[in-house]
Amino acid sequence: MKIVKDCVAAFHYKLTNDKTEVIDHSEGQGPLYYIQGHGHIIPGLETLMLDKVVGDKFSADIEAVDAYGERKEEMVQIVPRSQFEEPDSLQPGMQFNVETDMGPMVLSISEVLEEEVKVDGNHPLAGERLHFDIEITEVRVATEEELTHGHVHGVGGHDH
Ligand code: ZN
Repeated sequence: MKIVKDCVAAFHYKLTNDKTEVIDHSEGQGPLYYIQGHGHIIPGLETLMLDKVVGDKFSADIEAVDAYGERKEEMVQIVPRSQFEEPDSLQPGMQFNVETDMGPMVLSISEVLEEEVKVDGNHPLAGERLHFDIEITEVRVATEEELTHGHVHGVGGHDH
């Protein structure tokens, strides 16, 4: 069957950035399972998945706007070091989970200054054009329960 809205599909992937650095891949950890049409994967990829069948392989360049979005400079803020529990241990690249008005967010420290740190709320891949190599490994009808729960059950998914 072809990949259509509300079906379960699985795929192997290799994700590289514009500098051809491999950012992520499914090799050795099994394919990624998702339900088509529910925003589980980035929009640019979800659109390309439509009508694919098991065994299809393709490559795609996806612009930032269809991936993790453009970088927003207003998501970068300067915060006093004293707001952190261990102000002396702060390093660039450290990540924190915080609750915001828009829900949970991951902030990362982009720069450590004398009295302050620069924190960045952009997704680490925001602003990046991404390159995917994809191979479809499974397509099946989703169960009623999977659609109600909004996630895949069984192999590659949840057990509840
Ligand atoms: Zn469930």
